Amino acid sequence: MFELPFEINYTLNKLSEAGYEAYLVGGAVRDMLMGKPAHDYDVTTSATPDETKLVFDGHKVIETGIRHGTVTVIVGGYPVEITSFRRESTYSDGRHPDVVTFSRRLEDDLGRRDLTVNAIAYSPVTGCADPYGGISDIENRLIRCVGDPNERFAEDHLRLLRAMRFSAVLDFTIDEKTRAAIHENKSYITTVSQERIFSELCRLICGINAKNILHEYSDVIFLLIPELAVQKGCEREYGDNGRDLYEHTVNCLSYTEPLLHLRLAALLHDTVKPSGADSEDVSRIRNTIAENVLRRLRCSTALTDTVCRLIRYNDVPIDHTDMVGLKRLASKIGIKTLKDVIKLKRADVLAEDPRHYYRLNELNAAYDALCEIEENGVALQVRDLAVGGNDLIGIGIRPGPAIGKLLRAALDAVISGDVDNEKGPLLRFISGKAAEFE
Ligand code: ATP
Ligand code: MG
Repeated sequence: MFELPFEINYTLNKLSEAGYEAYLVGGAVRDMLMGKPAHDYDVTTSATPDETKLVFDGHKVIETGIRHGTVTVIVGGYPVEITSFRRESTYSDGRHPDVVTFSRRLEDDLGRRDLTVNAIAYSPVTGCADPYGGISDIENRLIRCVGDPNERFAEDHLRLLRAMRFSAVLDFTIDEKTRAAIHENKSYITTVSQERIFSELCRLICGINAKNILHEYSDVIFLLIPELAVQKGCEREYGDNGRDLYEHTVNCLSYTEPLLHLRLAALLHDTVKPSGADSEDVSRIRNTIAENVLRRLRCSTALTDTVCRLIRYNDVPIDHTDMVGLKRLASKIGIKTLKDVIKLKRADVLAEDPRHYYRLNELNAAYDALCEIEENGVALQVRDLAVGGNDLIGIGIRPGPAIGKLLRAALDAVISGDVDNEKGPLLRFISGKAAEFE
């Protein structure tokens, strides 16, 4: 027996009182069986969409995807998605069913779902319906297609990536037949839209089992991001234990926290072998490649910028003994970004030969110094200064571009430790400088 939110219980009850079958299905049932909180609840019913609308007469009903059999009913202010039982149809384009056929049989509806663990229905009245063995697959931590994996992937090409994503996120092994079918049919994914690929890829790389999936399915990953394929078999500069550059990339990714910007940066931080061109060129090329990959995958501009900045500064040496240098860098790129750069650098070192581990101490020292800077509220931006534009006007400086320049010069002097961040010393410093900027 699962405890369900009021609006879900109400919806299931209302449908069964009207004589229809109604179940919770998909991710919510899977997550609850795993003892995890469910995040979205999908209801499936034997009622057709028109019948569902009649059952919820008097409620606000939104025809979300009525052609696909989904209506959203508002219950007590909460939206509940109700989808009518559907039967699998043919797919000519590898993504959309040619026709949507409703059914009165739960088995049909569960049979069209991608994975056994996603094909379990639950009703508070009759309990779990599990015709495809999803519960035992959850127990055995297995990802397995409902039915024949080759057929299921041929119908909807995205499923191949979904299987990999769920394996990465749930930390489940992919069943042998499903595994073979992914490799065999990998070229299907070239027909999937970049948006969908990116959305699955993001979840995959943040999964607890991402490392194994990126290794075992590198052939699929290289189709998604051909820029990574050149890393395979590419020896590392430091020739460590026969690991190639792709292995280094995957290890680096696994050593970062599962935060999307860090994981994307780790995935794309080393797309060029660091020999040949000089290091600045290598860094620039890496950045351009990362940007192109992310653009192609329709990643947002903001996230692309964040990831590329991390990759760029991952190549910039950090001297943990130079506090002024650290503050300058923090002032330039933001302290949060700089802390993320250090996290990426740490993962990069951990993924290297243990001979380089001594660098971890240095990076940890730099990270601690940044935490201290943050805690002490050290001025890193003009807005953190103890004086503002009006104070400068107050001492006779004419409003105009000189104000901004003087404030920046004052910030620089504070960061260098030449002037204290206090009103008196700052104004004295600024009046001394004013002549230069007038
Ligand atoms: P989560 O929301 O945590 O990603 P979920 O299982 O709820 O997991 P959704 O993408 O929300 O995944 O889909 C809901 C359900 O719809 C799935 O559990 C599955 O039964 C079915 N489903 C989704 N996408 C497909 C697909 N491409 N092919 C077959 N069934 C699918
Ligand atoms: Mg869901």
